[in-house]
Amino acid sequence: MARSEQPSGPHPGHLSGQRSSQQPGQQGLIADWIEFSAVDGPGNRFVLFLQGCGFDCPACHNPQTIPARSPDARRLSVGQVLDIIGPAAPFLSGVTASGGEATRQPHFLRALFDALAADPALCRLTRFVDTNGDAPRATWELLDPVLDGAMVDLKSLDPGLHRRLTGRPNDRVLASIELLARRGRLHEVRLLMLPGVNDSAPLLDATGAWLADVDPRMRLKVIGFRPHGVRPSPVSPEGVALLPGAPAQPHEMQSYAARLRQHGDFDIVVV
Ligand code: SF4
Repeated sequence: MARSEQPSGPHPGHLSGQRSSQQPGQQGLIADWIEFSAVDGPGNRFVLFLQGCGFDCPACHNPQTIPARSPDARRLSVGQVLDIIGPAAPFLSGVTASGGEATRQPHFLRALFDALAADPALCRLTRFVDTNGDAPRATWELLDPVLDGAMVDLKSLDPGLHRRLTGRPNDRVLASIELLARRGRLHEVRLLMLPGVNDSAPLLDATGAWLADVDPRMRLKVIGFRPHGVRPSPVSPEGVALLPGAPAQPHEMQSYAARLRQHGDFDIVVV
């Protein structure tokens, strides 16, 4: 997932902190960052949005972060990113790597989290990733020693619908959720609800049952679709729009949560 805020930090050419000069390190392609967020993991978090995503969701609010390259993205070293985080660190609980899809740059991510863990002023910050889950097991193995938690989107349990909503199958997403839960790294699963598209009772029941199988006490964030800012909705070959024309209503959101709760003792947040 990604945000629409403009970059709030300094341009890399103006960075002069110690870490950028001492630790040029691995470079990543960065779309954006925000210094403080209360909705991207536990506590107050610095969020780094990495450029590039393997999905192409019609519901994406930041389609400019999807291409692997963008004229607006900046190539920053790990040291430069640490210099940007540094001044905000006293007010932070942690750092979240988001996107685009952060796991598309796994070696940069590992190097960044390694550097955070090794820095005396930053090592207390927890290290999270906000992911669409479409990462191979090798990426999770690479990140495992330095990853504290993950927020994983599940666009649809139904493979065909998932492909229509993202352009990709969901097998790796499901495997990622299972693996992260087994390792105690799954902070929450995020369900973006598209009324009339992915909210049928049978699909909600199947989703609740599958998630309960993984962990009946997991934290779920049920997110209502908001059409503002998304691209014009594509239509299926039958002429049916792939996205709802109106936002999810509060009563719909409550009924989704109630339906999911029938399957497990989930900790459900509705937003
Ligand atoms: S997973 Fe979908 S919504 Fe998230 S950044 Fe990629 S294309 Fe956008």
